[in-house]
Amino acid sequence: MQTSDYVETTCLSRSCRAAVIKLASATSDATLILDATPTKMTAWVHEDGEVCRRRREVCPQTHAGIRLDVYTDHHATCPDAASWRRTRAAAR
Ligand SMILES: [Zn+2]
Ligand SMILES: [Zn+2]
Repeated sequence: MQTSDYVETTCLSRSCRAAVIKLASATSDATLILDATPTKMTAWVHEDGEVCRRRREVCPQTHAGIRLDVYTDHHATCPDAASWRRTRAAAR
């Protein structure tokens, strides 16, 4: 996951004010808004460093567990996400 060029800020929602990270999307001109505090997650990688995308029980390769910082989309956790989507739509 790309973590360069992000801006730490607070949620624009009137009722939330959580610390968030704004990150320009690599695939569109949208801005991603992510929770500033990442969730720790364990991922399994193969010897070549590639993240395993199969269930480990059925994958024939050797695995090593790594800890990953996963940033949650703030849409999912913001208590006021619905109203801020309306605000963004109105601003267009
Ligand atoms: Zn695997
Ligand atoms: Zn929010």
